[in-house]
Amino acid sequence: MNALGRHLAALIRSQGPLSVAQYMAEALNNPRYGYYASGDPIGRDGDFITAPEISQAFGELIGLWCASTWETMGRPSRVHLVELGPGRGTLMADALRAAAIVPDFRAAAALHLVELSEPLRAAQRRALAGAAAVWHHRFDEIPDGPLLVIANELFDALPIRQFHRTAAGWCERCVGLTGDGSTLRFVLAPDPVAGSLSGELADAAIGSVAEICPAGRVLAHDIGARVVSFGGAALIVDYGTTQPGAGETLQAVRRHRGHDVLESPGAADLSARVDFVALAAAAEGAGAAAYGPLEQGRFLAALGIRERIAALTKGCALAEAEALRSGAERLTDPAQMGSLFKVLAIAHPDLTTPAGFEPPR
Ligand code: SAH
Repeated sequence: MNALGRHLAALIRSQGPLSVAQYMAEALNNPRYGYYASGDPIGRDGDFITAPEISQAFGELIGLWCASTWETMGRPSRVHLVELGPGRGTLMADALRAAAIVPDFRAAAALHLVELSEPLRAAQRRALAGAAAVWHHRFDEIPDGPLLVIANELFDALPIRQFHRTAAGWCERCVGLTGDGSTLRFVLAPDPVAGSLSGELADAAIGSVAEICPAGRVLAHDIGARVVSFGGAALIVDYGTTQPGAGETLQAVRRHRGHDVLESPGAADLSARVDFVALAAAAEGAGAAAYGPLEQGRFLAALGIRERIAALTKGCALAEAEALRSGAERLTDPAQMGSLFKVLAIAHPDLTTPAGFEPPR
């Protein structure tokens, strides 16, 4: 067992099995041994790659989306531009460069970055040198005021709880130890967890697995409450589903390949598919309007990714133009990231439909 594994084993010996959510939070965010504490995992040479690292058009179009949403908010003289989990800062750097064509928006925007990882904060400082930014550990540290929130691939990293359907009903899947205490393993908490799972899962077959992300629901609710109180909108992009229901999706990834979830905690990325229906419901529960979820490919097409790439490739060398086109293709092609990834907007109920979305039915 590695150092984090030994720390978790000691916790389990003294307190009993950990929920999958507690395990995930430690494996990802433990300040000493957690996955995100130990370096920069993003990019071709890292463990996984994200949309802003694939194409500059992604951040640019999101920057223009923010500027256009700010216009519909009535051009407030001050707006908090918040990014949750900014990674290397690439998305925000591209967004700010593009949004500079609306100078009043750029002048109004105060930059806030919510990030736990020290190495990634350092990367963000480098990418955003020159832009005055304030860093926070949690969304609720953002000061009051109108706001625009962006989150790409943050919600999939928020800890989930897992439930297993047994003959005796739903039980929580937890992380315990093998008999000799040498290895982490999944165990089922003996008490069926009553009431945590929605009605439609009542008939799930024995052996089914269901996942719930309490932290994601709370965050979507808090974002909804903020935009209702102060005005503004949020854009959440991630891989996920638009259908509620059972299914196991927790996965570990290292060097662009699948990895065992419990082996060497902290050494691989852990993520789970985002339940967009639950996020939209949580935001609506706070009085906000929810738009989408829309497939990423459709959203980027509606914002004009083709036109943006055509403009960027003008006068480019052939190889460079080809790289720009294939990056955009990867983000929009339904067989690649275009349909697995979804976009959800959360907005003040009086705001006009945000760019790229259909008015609510
Ligand atoms: N948005 C970036 C990075 C995605 S990776 C991109 O698209 O490239 C996930 C990001 O969320 C990382 O920056 C990670 O450090 C951060 N993160 C993970 N869990 C977090 C949490 N609980 N609170 C804040 N940031 C978190």
